[in-house]
Amino acid sequence: MIDPWGRMIDYLRISVTDRCDLRCRYCRPGERTPPLPRSRILRFDEIEAVARAAIRLGVKKIRLTGGEPLMRADLGTLVGMLASIYGLRDLAMTTNGLRLAAHAAGLAAAGLRRVNVSLDAMDPGRFAAITGGGDVRRVLEGIDAARRHGLEPVKLNCVVSASVDEPDARDVAWFARREGLQARFIRQMDLAHGRFSRVEGGQGGDCPRCTRLRLTADGRVRPCLFSDLSFDVRELGPEEALERAAARKPRAGSACTSREIHSIGG
Ligand code: SF4
Repeated sequence: MIDPWGRMIDYLRISVTDRCDLRCRYCRPGERTPPLPRSRILRFDEIEAVARAAIRLGVKKIRLTGGEPLMRADLGTLVGMLASIYGLRDLAMTTNGLRLAAHAAGLAAAGLRRVNVSLDAMDPGRFAAITGGGDVRRVLEGIDAARRHGLEPVKLNCVVSASVDEPDARDVAWFARREGLQARFIRQMDLAHGRFSRVEGGQGGDCPRCTRLRLTADGRVRPCLFSDLSFDVRELGPEEALERAAARKPRAGSACTSREIHSIGG
């Protein structure tokens, strides 16, 4: 698929759930939004059908996201279904790491290649404050388990308020250097007001070179994070929804007022 601006769409981010076991203040502030009803969540065979169509249309890389993808039961089965699709070159996952230690071996055996782990602070108190009570030790255990089971390179996603010079970000950068891990720094985004910037150390936010589409947990293909456009795979069928999304992919992000980031998958 080539979008109207000549970008070759080769990357699909698949959100497998909007549920999460953390409440990061920059993602799910304030009152609890009820999770999507289960009936609206795509089944594994439906996700596989979208992935197969996407790969037929030129996608080479798939990343599993959430909410928190490890909140989805039996995720290893889905990983195995996707990893066996001919033509897929890379299968990755972004996780908050809390459940990674328990699942790393099974996911690696099922065919997952690598993981990005969210890590916004090293100090346990700071980490708990940012994530709404998360335990940083479990995340570090998850990173260890991922490396032990070959889910490498492990990359760290660190959200910063404004700058990589913030104390928590410096701590994460130091940890990454010490461990030989790659850290990427993501400035807090504001979907509704279209505030975002390039991910330092990554590809996100680089609109001129953006080659990604997103599939939400309830089956909507979104051409851009900062847009309200989306196409329903249950209504249009996977191929049509993907092709329409690519054909309507904006040159650059503007704003998204219809969804919160945790129900899109970042
Ligand atoms: S804002 Fe949209 S076009 Fe820009 S990098 Fe993000 S998804 Fe791609």
